[in-house]
Amino acid sequence: MAELLLDVNNLVTKFKTADGKLSAVRGVSFSVNKGETVCIVGESGCGKSITSLSIMNLLPNNGEISEGSVRFLGQELTKMRQDELRKLRGNKMAMIFQEPMTALNPVFTVGFQIREPLKIHKRLSQREAHRKGIELLKQVGIPYPEKRMSQYSHELSGGMRQRVMIAIALACRPSLLIADEPTTALDVTIQAQILDLIDDLKEELGMGVIMVTHDMGVVAEVADRVMVMYAGEKIEEADVESLFSNPQHPYTKGLLKSVPNVDDRNHQLEAIPGTLPNLNEVITGCRFHNRCEFATEKCRTQSPKTFTVNDEHTVRCWLQEVEQHDESAATASSNQ
Ligand code: SF4
Repeated sequence: MAELLLDVNNLVTKFKTADGKLSAVRGVSFSVNKGETVCIVGESGCGKSITSLSIMNLLPNNGEISEGSVRFLGQELTKMRQDELRKLRGNKMAMIFQEPMTALNPVFTVGFQIREPLKIHKRLSQREAHRKGIELLKQVGIPYPEKRMSQYSHELSGGMRQRVMIAIALACRPSLLIADEPTTALDVTIQAQILDLIDDLKEELGMGVIMVTHDMGVVAEVADRVMVMYAGEKIEEADVESLFSNPQHPYTKGLLKSVPNVDDRNHQLEAIPGTLPNLNEVITGCRFHNRCEFATEKCRTQSPKTFTVNDEHTVRCWLQEVEQHDESAATASSNQ
């Protein structure tokens, strides 16, 4: 039976701005089991990165979790003191970012940055942490690991820096890894290697992984389950097979139509018209209605409910109400 690792319930994250408090994440709920990869997808600005920063409690100074709960291994993180959270971060939960140059410290060697979490969280001596650091660099496929330990981040290539960041994140064998667009800045060959590496380590360590991405190709490759976000809300969630074979939300369908298909060279790529609303835009009804070809009066005035498609699949769209009503009417008439 699946073992629950992380349970996010009705998460609301707001930012204090000159226009007042604005919601970047609006009542998002999802969970991650041990050994499972959950992908959070959507356009830039949809709230996916803020959701992951909220889980790690790494929001910028003007951000706050104003509602909801984040339970990790049974502990409530939103109520935890900073010193308690520091013991978890880099130890039981770790994060890797899109651009390792911003996450790696340019004034310390790779060795220093990889030894520190091992000394602090695992209480290893300098010598033991150094040995372990070399082992970790080897594990993430870095050649000449002994030499790399004394180098600085600017001396490494982009792919190498990303591997170093993964090695640091994995140093304490975390139960949960959050990877925020970890391969976006890399070329496709390195991207495939990094994704394979995360997947192999997930199997080996039994980690749960949250992969934040805008790339449906990455989702198809690594996800067990997918959560699609739009304008701060979860709009669809499903296991990866259902999401690709039977997407329900018009936005998800739009995302899938914008992915190239190598088996069908005549496949026309379609862009979703319009752009994401700004955080300070007041929108009534469905937050996607301005861009949706199926929008009705109800969509413009009432926020959609979340409907269950099957045990593994939910969607937040009024079209589902019509579909489920038609299905039950058809069942009723066939029973007469
Ligand atoms: Fe489109 Fe209406 Fe569904 Fe929103 S609720 S996605 S506007 S059909």
